Amino acid sequence: MSDVSWSKFVAKLEYKAEWYDRELIKIDRWYPSSQLFSACGHQNGKKPLQIREWTCPNCLATHDRDINVSKNILNEGLRLHAQKLN
Ligand SMILES: [Zn+2]
Repeated sequence: MSDVSWSKFVAKLEYKAEWYDRELIKIDRWYPSSQLFSACGHQNGKKPLQIREWTCPNCLATHDRDINVSKNILNEGLRLHAQKLN
């Protein structure tokens, strides 16, 4: 995504979050959301984009790439939220 459309996208999210009285949390751009296994937190490095699912060598759970990334981003957002409350 280009920087311009990204900032417009974030501005829209901020507007909607405020409208619905929700909190918008941005995670670090370097957070390795595609390298972590959401079930156990095991990290095993970058995977090529064409790999759509894989099995964790640590806990043997099978992950869909996009769903795994979504869960990691949610977990990180909730962690940052909890950090803010403390
Ligand atoms: Zn695992």
